[in-house]
Parts: sequence; structure tokens; C-alpha cells
Amino acid sequence: MIQLIKGFKDILPDEIVLWQYIEDTARALFEDFGFREIRLPIVEKSELFSKSIGDTTDIVEKEMYTFEDGKRGNVTLRPEATASVVRSYIQHKMYAEEPVRKLYTIGPMFRRERPQKGRYRQFYQIDAEVFGTASPYMDAQIIFMLVSLFNKLAVQNVSAHINSLGCPVCRPDFQKALFSLLESQKDHLCENCLRRSEKNPLRTLDCKVPSCRNALKDAPSILDFLCGDCQSHFNTVKDLLTRQNIPFDIDKNLVRGLDYYTRTAFEILTTSLGAQNAVAGGGRYDGLVEALGGPSQPAIGFAIGFDRLAEIMAQNRTLPPKNPKIYIAALGDTCRNLAWGWASDLCLDGVQTEMDFEERSLKSHMKRADKFHADFVLILGDNERENGHALFRNMESKEQISVPLDDLVPQLIKIIG
Ligand code: AMP
Repeated sequence: MIQLIKGFKDILPDEIVLWQYIEDTARALFEDFGFREIRLPIVEKSELFSKSIGDTTDIVEKEMYTFEDGKRGNVTLRPEATASVVRSYIQHKMYAEEPVRKLYTIGPMFRRERPQKGRYRQFYQIDAEVFGTASPYMDAQIIFMLVSLFNKLAVQNVSAHINSLGCPVCRPDFQKALFSLLESQKDHLCENCLRRSEKNPLRTLDCKVPSCRNALKDAPSILDFLCGDCQSHFNTVKDLLTRQNIPFDIDKNLVRGLDYYTRTAFEILTTSLGAQNAVAGGGRYDGLVEALGGPSQPAIGFAIGFDRLAEIMAQNRTLPPKNPKIYIAALGDTCRNLAWGWASDLCLDGVQTEMDFEERSLKSHMKRADKFHADFVLILGDNERENGHALFRNMESKEQISVPLDDLVPQLIKIIG
């Protein structure tokens, strides 16, 4: 039998209920905050990602699914969404339509990472991006929206971590200070950190190798190097979050894996998932739109790891609100014929209704109703039909009432509320 590839997974109908609930909640919340959906291709030119994510990142160095596509050259299955959203924003000149543009997109991403719990080669992200404002109010609002989503979904054991990565004015001084420390600790650094210490020293700060962690325990803090503008930006973000009662930790080692971040960077971490503890991450990337050939436009965004969020909620046994389900047990041809119309009408009215068209005993119908997890069963046999009533059974309370056949569907809807 052909099995699926390691690192990939099927999301089965029983799990999808939770996925749809997450997606619906995110959509509703984001749209209330003025975000509009955008759907983008899964395949893009490879250079879009190498230019935006950066050549010295794990993603571009070793995790992209890239293949040659004839005359088009190298194309890549998108490893993240921001680059594509920016590409589309520039290509469709969205900056000319509205000064501030808020977009969100939901879909699969692909990274050839070592598969483990919470880390897949195809995973899903819920991604939100705002273009056209450099204001710290937007940073705080986007973090507020993200944390509110977790609150709405009743996700516990998550905390917000924030940092500032400075800007092209102040970051070089920090990089220099960090580089001198890295030089003095060369013998204790892993191969990755050695390679990166020249090109992208910030990345060494989130290395998980114990010897690197130890070597960098006295690393300078970027927060001590912020220029006046970055400092005041960061202070405003912190003040606004405090005012909105959003608890956060400041993490000076939070650097994010991508090159284009400036100023505010943030992550939502969970204690529920072991090693893969980041459930969302984002930040400001004021230089990217211009770097990809667009006008100079500040931007900020985040990506939520959908799979991880669904895993936390499944672990916590969070169940989406349930709509009542009806099973119709119709015995005999005449009753089946009558009930068939009710089943269709109920479905159309938004009540999930299941009917078995085979001839079965009442006992066997009740077994089917259990399998279907019906909340109610409508029973119609010849006796009931002749009396002008059907029986309506509440499967939880076991209470059974008689409902007149005239106008049956509106009556059932009234009963189940
Ligand atoms: P990133 O685009 O790397 O900032 O990731 C944003 C979020 O996507 C992370 O916080 C994770 O929750 C999720 N994520 C990233 N990589 C993976 C992966 N390989 N498998 C599952 N989720 C992932």
C-alpha cells in the first residue's frame, strides 16, 4: 500500500471540525479589524524567497522545495507567505489604492525540515500583514489582535514575547559588539553559528545548541543599542500592550529567522508542545517592500502555525461549539418518502440531518443514530404516521415528545433552538 510521505499528513474529517472552527474565528476577528483575504499561488520564483528571507537562513540554505520549471527557471513551493503577499502587493500596486492595506491569507507552506512532533514538511499558516504604516500603534494593535484570537479560542498556556531588532541606523553597532563576542568564543560555537557570525550574527542568538547558548550567555542586548527613534517606538508598543492588559515578556534573544525584520519582533510561545514551542511569530519589516522592487512602504505581519494551534486545542480538549444533529429513522416506504423531504428541508435550514434510506429495524436505526452522534432522533413508523404525529427523541435526556406532522420542520427547528 502506498503511504503518505514522512513529514506530511492527512487532516481527517474528525480533526477538520476544529480546523474550521479556528479558521472561522480567525477570519471573523481579522475582518472586524479591517483585514481582507488574499489567496496566492503556492509556487513562486525561487529568487522571491532568497531575496526576501535571506540567503543565510535555514529556510533558504536547506529547506526549500525547489525545482526547475523549464524556461521559468527555478521555482519553489512557498516556505512562508509574507514574501508572496509582498510580491502581490507590489505587483498589483495596492499601495496606490489605500494608504494602509491589511491582508490575510491561510494555506499550506513547505519546508524540508527534519520532521518531528509539531514540525512538518507541509504545514499551514494563518498569515496577516499590514502595509503603509510605521506607527507603533499598529504593532500593538496587531499583537493585541493575535493575542485576542488565542483568547477567543480559549487557548491557555501561551505567552507573548517581544523584542526590538532596531533599524539600519542602530543595528550595525549591536552587530559589531556581538561579532566581537563571537570572535572571542569561536572555539565554542557550532558550525552553523561559525558560518553565520560574519554574515548574519543576530541569528546566533537563537541557536539551540547548548555550547552556543553557554558561549553567548553574556551576549550584549540589542535593547542597549537602540537609537532614540527605535527606543521610543518600543516604549510606545510596551505601553499600549500594558494598557490593553496584554501580558508580555521581553526577550532580548528573540531575533526571528528572517533577515528583513526591523524594530518590533514578537512570538507567541506555548508550554504545551515540547520543543516546538512557537505557535506564532511576526514582526515589523520596514525594508522589504522596497527591497523587492516596490516603493518604500513600512509593514508588519505575523504567521500563526495552524497545525500547532490545532494540536494545543486538541490536547486541551477544546471543542468547537456544536450545532445539534438530527437523525431520521423512517420505517417503511411511505414514511421514508415523506421524511426524505423533511431531511432535505432541515439541511437547507442549517440543521445537520442524516437519514438512512435502507430498510432497517428501529433498533438498527438507533445504532446508526449513535454512530452519527445524533442529538435528536425523529422516528416515523406507520402507526405514528396514521396518528398524524412523529416521535422526537432527545438522545441525551432520553425524553421523547410527539410532534404533529403538519408543519413539522419549523416545529423541530423551534424545539432544538
Ligand atoms: P515562521 O514563518 O518560521 O516565523 O513560523 C511561524 C509559525 O509557523 C511558527 O511559530 C510555527 O508555529 C509555525 N511553523 C513554522 N515551521 C513549521 C513547521 N515545519 N511545522 C509546523 N509549524 C511550523
